[in-house]
Amino acid sequence: VLVSPQRTERPWLGQIERAVPEQLPEHDPSCYLCPGNERAGGTRNPNYTETFVFTNDFPALQPLADGEYGTCRVVSYSPRHDAGLGELPLHMVERVVDVWTEQYAELMADPRVGHVQIFENRGAMMGASNPHPHGQIWATEHLPMHVEREVERFTATPTLLVDYLASETERLVEENEHFVAAVPYWAVWPFETLVASRRLVPSLVDLSDAERTSLADIFKRLVQRYDRLFSTLFPFSMGLHQTSHLHAHFYPPLLRSASVRKFMVGYELLAEPQRDLTPEEAAERLRSV
Ligand SMILES: [Zn+2]
Ligand SMILES: [Zn+2]
Repeated sequence: VLVSPQRTERPWLGQIERAVPEQLPEHDPSCYLCPGNERAGGTRNPNYTETFVFTNDFPALQPLADGEYGTCRVVSYSPRHDAGLGELPLHMVERVVDVWTEQYAELMADPRVGHVQIFENRGAMMGASNPHPHGQIWATEHLPMHVEREVERFTATPTLLVDYLASETERLVEENEHFVAAVPYWAVWPFETLVASRRLVPSLVDLSDAERTSLADIFKRLVQRYDRLFSTLFPFSMGLHQTSHLHAHFYPPLLRSASVRKFMVGYELLAEPQRDLTPEEAAERLRSV
């Protein structure tokens, strides 16, 4: 059952297009990400009007004398407690992409930093502790395992994703002038998608202004499709890989409804992942909403 988008006036951001019914307030006095609120340790957030970046008050990585060097930052996407990437107006999603780009450039300029992982963990089902739309940026000294494996493959075949995109037709979900979103044939999660730039561009800092706008556009439209699929704020882990060919992975857990998820257990943990629907069916369902 699809819920028709409901338009409401918002003082900060203009009109918000709702894909799903939602109970969240625009501002939550108990939220540590909302403007003007107090965070752990007594720091008070500024009354920010766009994005807001700060170093995590409970970082998973800390600079150590002889351990892995690193830092963890949090990016609040907007002052709005209730508007994610699918609901923010395009110019606000562009601002998020711009902040990712600025943060990536700043952190990679530190000679001690070897990798910057930008990601969003969305929804209680994914362990996200706060519904206020936000992402994280972890900078580490070393390449993490998944990224290292990708670098090996890209070193062997630099045009890996260019070649794949050239052959991809029936599993496309969204596309625009500069980016493509598809359910790749190797996807293991039911509605997993890959977003990749059409041209071989290594990272955010190599994008033109027009390409950054295109990236914001495809993220917004892809997340809207996810939200509409089961009429819920679709949970996922999403993140950017930018070592060889800029791309993003969306790993969403849902399978049949807002509450019925896929479990990677049993045979899948011990032998190999099994698909419950084909990548072609998943792409068709995402295109239909
Ligand atoms: Zn909030
Ligand atoms: Zn990747």
